[in-house]
Formats: sequence, C-alpha cells, structure tokens
Amino acid sequence: MGHPGGGTATLYSAERNTVMDTSTQIKTAVAITTLAGLAVGGWFYAALYPTSQLFGRVVIAGDDSAEVALTYDDGPNPAATPQLLELLARHNVRATFFLIGRHVRQEPALAREIAAAGHAIGNHTMTHPWLSWQSAARVRAEIADTNALLEDTLGQRIRLFRPPHGARRPVVLRAAAELGLHTVNWNIITHDWRPQPSAAIVEKIRNGIVRNEVHGRGSNVLLHDGGMDQPRMPSVQATEVVIQDAFAAKRRFVTPEAWV
Ligand SMILES: [Zn+2]
Repeated sequence: MGHPGGGTATLYSAERNTVMDTSTQIKTAVAITTLAGLAVGGWFYAALYPTSQLFGRVVIAGDDSAEVALTYDDGPNPAATPQLLELLARHNVRATFFLIGRHVRQEPALAREIAAAGHAIGNHTMTHPWLSWQSAARVRAEIADTNALLEDTLGQRIRLFRPPHGARRPVVLRAAAELGLHTVNWNIITHDWRPQPSAAIVEKIRNGIVRNEVHGRGSNVLLHDGGMDQPRMPSVQATEVVIQDAFAAKRRFVTPEAWV
C-alpha cells in the first residue's frame, strides 16, 4: 500500500520485459525462419542437386579426367535415336541410354537395337515422374516395373538407374538398390531438352569437361535423345563434335559402370 516508486519500477520493468519479449520473439522468429530456410534449402540440395550424396550414394564420375560418359535420357525416340546409333557406331563409341518404360513399350524394336549395339542400358522409370514427392509405393512400382519390362524386352540384366530430373529421396535410392541398381546422375548438364543450336550444347560440354579436368574428375554428360518424337538432332550433332574433340584430346569414352 502506498509505494508509488515501487509501482513505477514494476511498471517500467514490465514495459521493458514486454519490449525485450518482443525483441526476443523477433530474434527467435528470425532464427526459426533461418533454420527452416536452411532445412528446406538442405532438403532441396539433397533431393535435387545432381551430385549431392546426402540421401545415399549416387554415381557421378571417377577421378580420371580423361574418362567421359555420354548419357542419353528419355528414349527410345524414333525421331533421333536411330541417327544417334548410326553416329556412335561410325565412331565406335559406347554410350549409355536411360530408357523410359512407356517409350520402350511403344518402340521395343528400337530399344533392342540400342542394346544390340552394345550400349549400356539404364532404367529411367515408367512415366518419368518427380520421385522426390511420390508415395513410396509409386516410387517402387515406377522402378521395379521398368526393370522388369527392360529385362523382358532386352533379355539382359539392368544395373543402372537414373531418377527423372535427378530427383530423389532415401526411399528412391533404397528401392533402386534393392533391385541391384546403381543410381547415376551427372556432372555436365546441357539443358538440351530446350530448343537450342548444337553449338550451344557443344560449348556447355566443352566448358564442363574443362571444369572437371581442373578438379581431376571424369565427365558424366547428360544429353537427351528422347522423349517420344521430340526433335533431338542438335544433341546428335553436338555428339559428333564432342567425339571428335575427345579423340583429339586422347580422352576415353566409358559408361557409368566404370565408376560404380
Ligand atoms: Zn529424363
């Protein structure tokens, strides 16, 4: 009773606490947002960054910078795969084809032609979904059904798998491993699914190979001969130049099987 000074002090203190609380709340909110941002950023890195190993081992390349793997996704495609096969045969180069199951169903003879030419064959799912956000059951079905189809159609064991868009999460890598598949991404991207002149594709590959040589690692080049009926001739024409480059520089063509 009758302690005005104390009352003022309490009021002041309460106000200050309120001020501090607000400030603390802001700092906490900033910290949580930053952590959430890092967590989301970390998830995107682990799931989508082509060379990330955070969700499990992904084959990229070895440490011999003279080794180059040419990999072609989304086929078989009657509008480009035959021309590509002819070019690779002419130069006696063995490449890798990550085939989409539903395209193999449409073009089984062309898929068999790729395999008969001695190229490495990989599983690229049945319908090309983003596996990073499909149910576990869908992930398993996409990979397992495609493997069964490829093995039935081609009569050979499949050992390589490339997730569409390079997107994965632990269940994707586990489902692939359970089928004896090595998951493969890339370290040179050409964005050749977008229309562009072959010279632009060549330039990206040349720059990528130089960058990999600086870092003492092989080159795993992502190209596309599919999807179905897409005009992929710039990618085929770029391949011719990259092969000539490689022979002049004494590089060797390998498949990702060399790096598992
Ligand atoms: Zn693809």
